[in-house]
Amino acid sequence: MAVSSSTPAPPGTTGAPARTGARPARRPRGEGQWALGHREPLNPNERMKADDDPLNVRARIENIYAHRGFASIDPADLRGRFRWWGLYTQRKAGIDGGRTAVLEPHELEDEHFMLRVRIDGGQLDLDQLRTIANISRRYARDTADITDRQNIQFHWIRVEDMPAIWRQLEAVGLQTTEACGDCPRIVLGSPVAGVAEAELIDSTPAIDEIVRRYVGNQEYSNLPRKFKTSISWLVDTPYEANDVAFLGVVHPDYGPGFDVWVGGGLSTNPMLAKRLGVWVPLAEVAEVWAGVVSIFRDYGYRRLRNRARLKFLVADWGVERFREVLEKEYLGRSLLDGPPPELPEKPIDHIGVHRQHDGRHYVGAAPVVGRVSGSQLLELAEVAAAHGSGRVRLTPYQKLLVLDVEADRTESLVTALRGIGLEAAPSAWRRGTMACTGIEYCKLAIVETKARGQELVARLEERLREFDADISIHINGCPNACARTQTADIGLKGQLVVGPDGQQVEGFQVHLGGGLGMAQGQTAGFGRKLRGLKTTAEELPEYVERVARRYLASRSPGE
Ligand code: SF4
Repeated sequence: MAVSSSTPAPPGTTGAPARTGARPARRPRGEGQWALGHREPLNPNERMKADDDPLNVRARIENIYAHRGFASIDPADLRGRFRWWGLYTQRKAGIDGGRTAVLEPHELEDEHFMLRVRIDGGQLDLDQLRTIANISRRYARDTADITDRQNIQFHWIRVEDMPAIWRQLEAVGLQTTEACGDCPRIVLGSPVAGVAEAELIDSTPAIDEIVRRYVGNQEYSNLPRKFKTSISWLVDTPYEANDVAFLGVVHPDYGPGFDVWVGGGLSTNPMLAKRLGVWVPLAEVAEVWAGVVSIFRDYGYRRLRNRARLKFLVADWGVERFREVLEKEYLGRSLLDGPPPELPEKPIDHIGVHRQHDGRHYVGAAPVVGRVSGSQLLELAEVAAAHGSGRVRLTPYQKLLVLDVEADRTESLVTALRGIGLEAAPSAWRRGTMACTGIEYCKLAIVETKARGQELVARLEERLREFDADISIHINGCPNACARTQTADIGLKGQLVVGPDGQQVEGFQVHLGGGLGMAQGQTAGFGRKLRGLKTTAEELPEYVERVARRYLASRSPGE
């Protein structure tokens, strides 16, 4: 609006207060949204990204830090930009969870790194699997965890070894680009994409196109925070917990395509993704994905880190406005309305022996809480090859699959997998328990998780082997919910609790009754955090056993 000479100037715009004694009006602070003109970095993270594109740190690692060692690393690279290449400093051993919040970052960190390898869609051939296994054995003290985002995560990595690690990964088509950081993280995909009997569209081409066009692309490397994606025909990923998700659906007129969900995310302000109500064919998934991530880049909140996920924008705008902005400002066309997908009664984890559409079979097997080793992965490659398979898949439930096995070889494969610690007929406890990284390596952790999870599974298998229902137990080392605390039957959030002698000990806040991917008619939802419902880590097995026994005693027939 033009301001004429007869129009009174708004207070605060003339350089003098409007009234004597009145305070100058404050300019609204805004949320740091680029599209509204807020380009000035409003916090140290935004400053770090504005000072230098984090993707540029790769050259410094290769040319400087790998030669001069850990002490030479610029702190803004070390604790900021390194993440864009999958690198986090790992926690120094022996620092208890009570000191997590009080120590400075440099006091908490070791001179080694955690390294995530991005495995979009969880798909590996045996060359890739062997390369990961060999890197683990040579550079990572034989560590390798299957994360709940289908990554492999190493520990004990030295900056000096990164050039060699990248060379070896890239020689087989793997990368660590944007495996962490405020950028498009690994794209979750169905572990049975391209082979499932029930699948109408293999979403792999859309995942490949997104990775090829947009990962490592500086147009998308400075987002307000991380951006998580899931693209799957089946309900075999935790799609509602992603910033954007594409889920298979059949349109009555146009056939198979994808239903689009936006704004999911867990952590401390959990929200489930919401349907946009549109139908997108496979060929347009990458374009629509780029539109959604561009909205996040341009309109996402950047002022406060704890409001910088897409879910806050979706919550404030609502899906109608989100769809309108996507169509008008980013796609330049309307999207087709689409029907809701049919959801199964429970998420699909693919454990056990299953027929593929080509008549061969895949076998899904469970390590315990996703913990494997390089040596075990090397054995897995040999077992798979010996059974005629050339492909392995990782799942977002910290499990793995061996594909393309003839019917008469499945029994032998199940036995061979058991021989290397991977169980295709696991107990309900082993099948349903996941754990995040926890205090062993994570600088944010308050409690131990992986070892607790392994102990929990072992104790419950011993004491309640007969438990015959599906159950999910997600163990998290802090409120960040990397292992999806709120979406499990029993979600465990690590914190210090009061022990039997009145002292502070490791323990968990308990969330009960969460779930994702539920059947229509039922509502996917978060577990209830029951005030005062806490257990010490020591008492966790007894606690879970009590809950499970009570459930067995009181469940209704067929429940
Ligand atoms: Fe670390 Fe917390 Fe995430 Fe676990 S939930 S990996 S402890 S940040």
